[in-house]
Amino acid sequence: MTKVNKKKCIGCGACVATCPEVFELDDDGKAQVKADKKLPCVKEAIADCPVGAISK
Ligand code: SF4
Repeated sequence: MTKVNKKKCIGCGACVATCPEVFELDDDGKAQVKADKKLPCVKEAIADCPVGAISK
């Protein structure tokens, strides 16, 4: 299951840009998983997150 650690997330939006089918920004400006899909872009989003907030 893909998860975002909201304590680490700085809301940069990179994961949303990379993988919009899985990630969105919530009302606090932090990323959240909107649909836990197994897409290749999830791996990319994990690798690109500047603070390592995404895990699966
Ligand atoms: S890439 Fe990382 S820091 Fe940026 S919004 Fe996504 S989870 Fe947050």
